[in-house]
Amino acid sequence: MKSHSELHERALELLTIRGIDLDDIADLVLYLQKDYVPGITREDCRKNVEAVLTKREVQNAIITGIELDMLAEEGKVSQPLRDILVNDEGLYGIDEILALSIVNVYGSIGFTNYGYIDKVKPGILQDLNDRSNEQCHTFLDDIVGAIAAAAASRIAHDDPNKSEIMK
Ligand code: MG
Repeated sequence: MKSHSELHERALELLTIRGIDLDDIADLVLYLQKDYVPGITREDCRKNVEAVLTKREVQNAIITGIELDMLAEEGKVSQPLRDILVNDEGLYGIDEILALSIVNVYGSIGFTNYGYIDKVKPGILQDLNDRSNEQCHTFLDDIVGAIAAAAASRIAHDDPNKSEIMK
């Protein structure tokens, strides 16, 4: 079995390689939570993003999805999947399904956040959409949205660490 730290390291590395800064994800969490948690800061949000990224299910989804995006971009996926991924075809849906394994980590409260952020596409999600001419982000956009939704759920939940994190 792969060690947890190897998966964690690789997941973080892949996000960086694909131009995702954890502060960008923290900004999405802030966007989701600012009206519900008085005084919440970007730093609070970032801590929750980092906590989400320590979960094995989350790491597995990140390394699988980003790897597929990169392989499709390099033409290393055969047809018809290559065109589906490169063109981000709307009826494919497996990118959203993969991301649900991230949303699921903190229970059903994450689904609403995920659906909402996917529709509104604030911040980095809009950038990913705009940059998708040069790069394949079929999986990445859903992964990033799902990490933010999971982190927001973690804050909303009655998490035992919440008082520490939120002060
Ligand atoms: Mg997608």
